[in-house]
This record gives sequence, structure tokens and C-alpha cells, in this order.
Amino acid sequence: MQLQICTTIALQFWLLFCLFLVWNRIVLDAGSSHTSMFIYKCQHSECHVSSYAGNRGGAARSLFSQIFFIFITFLNVHCYNNNKLYNNAVLKEVRDKLKTYPFSFKGAYGWVTVNYLLEKFTKYSFVGQWLSPGRDTVGALDFGGASTQITFETKQTVENKDNLMKLRLYGRDYQIYTQSFLCYGRDQVLLRLLALLMKVKFHPCYPASHSDSIKLSSVFDTPCNKRQTPYKPDDDLCSFDGVFQPNITGNFMAFSAFFYTHLFLQKAAGITITSPAHLEDAVRVVCNMSFQEVNLISRDHLREYCADSILLQVLLITGYGFSDLSFPHISFQEKAADTSVSWSLGYMLSLSNLLPAENVFVRKTLRL
Ligand code: AMP
Repeated sequence: MQLQICTTIALQFWLLFCLFLVWNRIVLDAGSSHTSMFIYKCQHSECHVSSYAGNRGGAARSLFSQIFFIFITFLNVHCYNNNKLYNNAVLKEVRDKLKTYPFSFKGAYGWVTVNYLLEKFTKYSFVGQWLSPGRDTVGALDFGGASTQITFETKQTVENKDNLMKLRLYGRDYQIYTQSFLCYGRDQVLLRLLALLMKVKFHPCYPASHSDSIKLSSVFDTPCNKRQTPYKPDDDLCSFDGVFQPNITGNFMAFSAFFYTHLFLQKAAGITITSPAHLEDAVRVVCNMSFQEVNLISRDHLREYCADSILLQVLLITGYGFSDLSFPHISFQEKAADTSVSWSLGYMLSLSNLLPAENVFVRKTLRL
């Protein structure tokens, strides 16, 4: 009897939840540094986005997630006798689902976001029509906590088909090169660096006179450091995984930690960084700053800014190969068209069929 009542209530909750999903599209980005929830309300191809951020490891703090978790907890505690079994079933479901997640094409979704927001696929003309402008697209450079991605349109032959994505959007064909470097995200590189430096007990990139005690487990309990044992240096940080990349062409938008670090570098050095030489000068300034000087510019991530800056420089110049000619074509941005740039929007648009293969005249607005 009790199970019957509970099942009825659960079904009603489920129906409400499904209706909510029909009216809204939700993307949960359970990133390595924090969780974000994006709720996209789309009607007639017009989308509004609201975003909520939670701390590392926590769910986004929002009415929706609270209701959802209350619902799950209610089911778990009151309706099912064998909690352990239920939890195992949920965990298996989550594990199976995670395997289908699009991490290998995360970079491509970032590229879709950037070009959708910059109206490179379609544009509202002054005569009141949506046109497919056939304009050059913009490459995407994402720098998260666990991985970094580079994605851009290329006419060159792409050696490894895993790096290739062919898309037809608004009546135009695009050939995209995309590569994701797992373990080369900001947090994971900093941890890998710490793992290498544990032996010498000296961190050359921390501000002068800064000292800290760090738990070994906080450095080594991560998949990117699993293959290293404490005090046994591994020199694979120096290479860039021998991955093929076509020649860099066109404009790029660099977001996430590229944006934060670039902003800090410009503030610290008091210059606009438009070349690798400027970048070199700014990195030198940041790496010669004391903790107090860093603190005058930022409140968070203080001890990391020198390492972050070197990492940005090495990734862009040595890794991806931006030169005196191509570096000025990178725009470091957190937002485009008033909307935060991240892979989640491109993912939602692709999954919801909001990016037609052929040209259709639709109205599109996005507000944060
Ligand atoms: P997010 O784009 O928020 O996922 O962050 C990507 C990476 O940037 C993570 O490693 C964050 O810890 C780091 N990060 C976030 N905010 C800042 C900031 N203001 N300065 C430097 N790094 C940051």
C-alpha cells in the first residue's frame, strides 16, 4: 500500500519534471573545478539562458537542483526498502550515461558556441531577414581545469580521423579540426607540476617568500598523476603528446582560464598583449611579483598566476604554434553577445536540433 502511494507521488513528480524538461533544456557541466547548470528556454528558436554555478564537487545551487535532489532523496528514503540496491542502480545508470558523454567532441561544441554567438552561421540582416552569411568562422581555444581544447575550420587533410568533424549548418559545409588534451587543463597541469617538484621542495613559480604545506594525497589522488609515484619525476610534461595539427588559420576566441590569465597578465604588466613578445614581457613581470603585489590585482588563485601565465604562453606558442602573425588574431573573451562562452550552449543547440543543416529563416536571441 505504502509502495503504491509512493509510486503514484513519484509518477506525478516525474511528470512535472518531464514537463519542465520539455519547456526548458538543461545542461549540467560537472567540471573539474566546479559545477555549472545552464537552463535554456527555447521557443521558436529563440533561446534565453540562465546559469547557476556551484563549488567544486557540489551541485549547482538552484531551485531546480534542490527540487530534483529532494525528489530523489524522497524516493530513496521513503519508497524503497533496499536503499543500497537503489543507490547501486542509480550509480550504474550514471556510470553508463557518463560513457556516452561527448567529451571527445567538447572542443567542437565550444566552436559551435563561439560561432553561433558571433552570428557566423546566420545573421539578421538590416532588411529584416535571417541570412546565411557564409563568413569565415572563428576557432575556439578552451582551457578548463582538467583539459584544454583547440578547434578550428581547416581545408588541410586531417591525418587522424578522430580529430575531424564534418558539419552542415544553414546550408554550408564545414570541415573542423578538433583536439582535446586531457590532463593539460590548468588544475591538472599545476598538480602534475607539483608532483614533479615534490622532490626539490621548491616551487619556482610561487611568488617570492610564499610557503605552503600541501598534502601528498591532494597531489597524487588524481587520474592525471596516478601514473606518477611520489618523488619519481616523469618527463612527459615537456612534450605535447605528439598530436597532429593542421596550420593555424583565421581568428580565434580564447576563453575560460585563457581569459582569466590573460586578463591578469595585462593588468599586472599594464600593457595590451598583442604579440608573443608582449606575452613574454608580461609573464616576466608576473613571475617577478611578490605575493602582496599579486594580491593587489586579484583575490583568488594568487600563488598560481606565474605558473598559469607560463602555461598559457607554452600552450599557445610552443604547443599550438601561434606566431607573430597568428597571435594577434586571438581574442581573449569571457563572453560573446552578453553570454558566457562555454561548450554547453553548443552541446544544447546540437542536441536540440536548433542548428539546421539547411538554411531556414529563424529568429534567435540569447540573453544571460
Ligand atoms: P572554469 O572556466 O570556471 O571552468 O575554470 C577553468 C579553470 O580556470 C579552473 O582551473 C579554475 O580554477 C580556473 N579559474 C577560475 N577562475 C579563475 C580566475 N579568476 N583566475 C585564474 N584562474 C581561474
